Amino acid sequence: MSAPNLVGMLPSQLEDLAVELGASRYRGRQVATWLYRKGVTDLSQMTDLPQELRSALGERVRVELPELERATPSQDGSQKLVFRLEDGARVSAVVMPDDGRITLCLSTQVGCGYACAFCLTGTMGLSRNLTSAEIVGQLLTANALLTGGERVTHIVFMGMGEPLANYAALVQSLRVLTDAKLGLGYSPRRLTVSTVGLVSGIEKLAREDLKVNLAISLHAASDEVRSRLMPVNRAWNLETLMRAVRAYPLAPRQSVFFEYVMLDGVNDTPEDAQRLARLLRGIRAKVNLIPFNDWPGSTFRRPPLARILAFQSLLLDAGVTTTVRWSKGEDIGAACGQLKEPAVA
Ligand code: SAH
Repeated sequence: MSAPNLVGMLPSQLEDLAVELGASRYRGRQVATWLYRKGVTDLSQMTDLPQELRSALGERVRVELPELERATPSQDGSQKLVFRLEDGARVSAVVMPDDGRITLCLSTQVGCGYACAFCLTGTMGLSRNLTSAEIVGQLLTANALLTGGERVTHIVFMGMGEPLANYAALVQSLRVLTDAKLGLGYSPRRLTVSTVGLVSGIEKLAREDLKVNLAISLHAASDEVRSRLMPVNRAWNLETLMRAVRAYPLAPRQSVFFEYVMLDGVNDTPEDAQRLARLLRGIRAKVNLIPFNDWPGSTFRRPPLARILAFQSLLLDAGVTTTVRWSKGEDIGAACGQLKEPAVA
């Protein structure tokens, strides 16, 4: 077995490790600060650690970011990062600067096991979960690529994979990201976990008291259509899902996000919009309409623009905050649902 990776460890685990190596907890906190607050991943640069501890660490652990294989810039300013993992698997993350924000979309699994009919990643099946080192490592790498003192400001768990199906590594990563003293110090309101609707996972996440944003990939407002598009709906139907969503604790001005991929002739009629508005009644919701991104072999099409806008208007008229999310990075294979990479080198 390879040595444990410091990247992705909780600050408290780094403290424990320092103690195991005969140093004080304080030394563990210094390591956390180097790693997460200063982005330093080279033990020899952690200059305020005693030489002895640095050598002891060097023998016991490694400090490794996932290998960045390429970074492809898009016409629209976004950038796709492709990582080659130790086993040769590839995952990607997308950096999207917009309006003073820098949003990072990151992956949580290699492939995905939920087989949504419209999603290219879903055709891959699930290979494996990412480790917290690989999840946090995507962010540390993205931050290191940014210049001029900039760093990623918002993080969405909307890349490859189903975050709630990789629960332990997800929650550990969220804790490292939100730890204000020794972690990366992101406000939980700047983090969004997106799910196909794993009810058991939503319920567990609600109990963690992490206060991160929740996004639900809804895509249909009737069980009939949703079960056709998303096999997961046969295990947890809309009623069960919406019950879990209603129970998710929200801060005073926090909303739940609902993603709705617009598919021509499938879920885009005025009746669909009205059904959706009814489903969301009484929930503090924000709807993101995502015009379908085409991929070779898919059987779906994007509706005409007029129909997308009419759908949005109906929701707005019903009092539902609704935006249309034009995916970034379409020209570089970085758009929603398109993060499929050849699996092995
Ligand atoms: N598995 C999680 C995280 C992925 S988020 C989830 O499903 O929420 C990626 C978002 O892009 C999801 O809402 C997904 O349904 C959507 N998506 C997938 N394929 C798409 C496509 N071809 N066009 C537009 N959106 C797509």
